[in-house]
Amino acid sequence: MKRADRAAALVELLPRIYPDAHCELTFADPLQLLIATILSAQCTDKRVNMVTPALFRKYKTARDFAAAPQEELEREIQSTGFFRSKAKSIRSATADIAMKHGGEVPRTMPELIALRGVGRKTANVVLGNAFDQSEGIVVDTHVARLSQRLGLTKQTDPEKIERDLMKLIPREHWTMWSHWLIFHGRRCCTARSPDCAGCELQSLCPSAFQPPGARKI
Ligand code: SF4
Repeated sequence: MKRADRAAALVELLPRIYPDAHCELTFADPLQLLIATILSAQCTDKRVNMVTPALFRKYKTARDFAAAPQEELEREIQSTGFFRSKAKSIRSATADIAMKHGGEVPRTMPELIALRGVGRKTANVVLGNAFDQSEGIVVDTHVARLSQRLGLTKQTDPEKIERDLMKLIPREHWTMWSHWLIFHGRRCCTARSPDCAGCELQSLCPSAFQPPGARKI
């Protein structure tokens, strides 16, 4: 099967398997999603969702976050890991949002990636899920692994994977594509022990029963 045909079949099938796929970070506005996404680097969404309720009760605006003392914020986000650099990123990004963007999270890719700690992946999360704008495709570890196993890319660099996917997946599905693959990656096609026998994508998957990089545990 050609890549384009496989991608089209997956876009048909995945929403039927995961009709409830969604962003698993808890947020109420774009600023909260930006902060939660910065915290989610090298950390599970579940852990981030345990930390953010108290954080969002205490800090309500970009100015509030920017004014937080570094050490205090570090303590509050410590359990998400890499807390020193995450606290620096949050304080710096929110200071820029407060001073250069009138307190509102910017809505364009160039403005977002100019903020400290915000790369294309975080910007895509915010644009797609808080602003309903599809500028690109979020490529996290699940999306990268599954896109490779499903034979949609041979690239390993996230930005190159994203470029391959943007050619194959219709733009209106870019945001959901990531949610579908993340749901499938967490529930079935895990990194170490993919359940090919129970996988509903098996007939479309060129890696079925021999996924690259998988190790049975
Ligand atoms: S068949 Fe196996 S490798 Fe392919 S998507 Fe399903 S679980 Fe992953």
